[in-house]
Amino acid sequence: MMQSLAHYTARAAAMTLRNQCWIGGRFVPAASGARFDCVNPATAQVLTDVARGGAEDIDRAVAVARAAFDDGRWSRKTPGERKEVLLRLAALLRENLEEFALLDTLDMGKPIAETVNVDVPGSAHFFQWHAEAVDKIYDEVAPTGGRDVAMIRRVPLGVVGAVVPWNYPLDMATWKLAPALAVGNSVVLKPAEQSPLSALRLAELAAEAGLPDGVLNVVPGFGEDAGQALGRHPDVDCLVFTGSTDVGKMFQRYAGESNMKQVWLETGGKSPNLIFPDADLDQAADMAAFGIFFNQGEVCSANSRMLVHRDVAEEMTARMKTRAEAILPGNPLDPDTKMGAMVDHRHAARVAEFLASGKEQARLVAGGERLTIGGSDAFIQPTVFADVPHDARIAREEIFGPVLSIQTFADEGEAVRMANDSPYGLAASVWTRDLSRAMDLSDRLHVGTVSVNTVDALSAMTPFGGMKQSGIGRDLSIHSFDKYTALKTVWIRY
Ligand code: NAD
Repeated sequence: MMQSLAHYTARAAAMTLRNQCWIGGRFVPAASGARFDCVNPATAQVLTDVARGGAEDIDRAVAVARAAFDDGRWSRKTPGERKEVLLRLAALLRENLEEFALLDTLDMGKPIAETVNVDVPGSAHFFQWHAEAVDKIYDEVAPTGGRDVAMIRRVPLGVVGAVVPWNYPLDMATWKLAPALAVGNSVVLKPAEQSPLSALRLAELAAEAGLPDGVLNVVPGFGEDAGQALGRHPDVDCLVFTGSTDVGKMFQRYAGESNMKQVWLETGGKSPNLIFPDADLDQAADMAAFGIFFNQGEVCSANSRMLVHRDVAEEMTARMKTRAEAILPGNPLDPDTKMGAMVDHRHAARVAEFLASGKEQARLVAGGERLTIGGSDAFIQPTVFADVPHDARIAREEIFGPVLSIQTFADEGEAVRMANDSPYGLAASVWTRDLSRAMDLSDRLHVGTVSVNTVDALSAMTPFGGMKQSGIGRDLSIHSFDKYTALKTVWIRY
């Protein structure tokens, strides 16, 4: 399946990159003519310049999306017809797997082994899963009796605005697009400015799969102009967002100050990983390393806080040191690389600030340095801090990098208090062989997903999302359709 570094390097150099807005089924420049550089963080080289969409482009895209919705070219197709188109898109993604893997690897610096084996197959699977589900959902008839039939129908909302982050460019877009399109909405997608390339190519591929023009539009651009314009647009019915908590709150404000559009948010996290002495410590360490170092730690549900029982704290710390030191950041195009570059120079500098703060407030066990590799200083060593005070910045704030904070607890009560004492509530993991304890903790941890004896458990079949300031609403699973549909009552008296 995997090819050589030479193969990926040569293919990357020969690729044609889509770099315009995709509106109404074709590539068009931004109305202002403005463009921005799209940089490969692993080399600090410009890949291409991309149309910088703004309010005028969002207006155009929303108008086209609305017209497509109203004339029923997609919204009034049967679920079975929509399924066929989205299944073709899933198949096309698999046919073009290497191209999409390269686009995300070049754009945001993650290892090619992950985009080839995880991200692109994942996106194809999510499209397929939602496509296959959509013609298996039934509407309801209320038990009115008499000469009445009251149908409770599930209908698409209209125009959905989607604003997504850069950490999984293709997958985060897919998590929104697959259910939104499956039920018949039109969509205007704004990818993150750090990673617009795969979304633009995806839109083109969707057209090839048979998605009618105007149903999916992609406007690359910056958050404060294109993102804000979508959030405030009076003709957008629903805004779905994945990104930081601060920006999530802005979308709530934009909606309140415009047309009260529905807003669904997947935001930040600071997920705890609770390790009890009866756990399989080797397995817990392997999975904890995966949980914090995978994707350079740029994962909303990354297990960035290890809460470990004091009886096994030193053993676990030693294990985490070994695992961290085994991962060497390197060229993302090398199929053997396990950790690539941070998304950009600015984010690497932000993570480096947390490293400095950690060194002041805690004990550095492994890593702790920002690295320059291949001419780019966007690399960070996998880092472990122990003896981290509960109020330390590295224990409380989302770092979004490969930095683990280890803290200790004396008993279950303290573990739960520490775990829940966070503004976030996205995910948690518990390692124990005691089933009663696992069930009890799964009740008491105030998060959207509790993984027991694993980390970050996730599938198309299960809802994903957060409590508290980790968000509102759920992606994935059959429940994701709830965000993209409204219940409509149709009452007939005969
Ligand atoms: P971000 O909030 O900075 O950006 C996300 C998107 O919002 C981008 O498209 C950006 O252009 C846009 N945006 C930025 N400022 C805006 C503004 N003022 N108005 C409108 N739009 C604006 O987040 P990021 O740095 O791209 O991504 C990292 C964050 O995403 C982390 O906090 C992470 O936890 C979160 N995330 C959450 C999930 C989840 O499912 N809960 C998944 C992945 C990432």
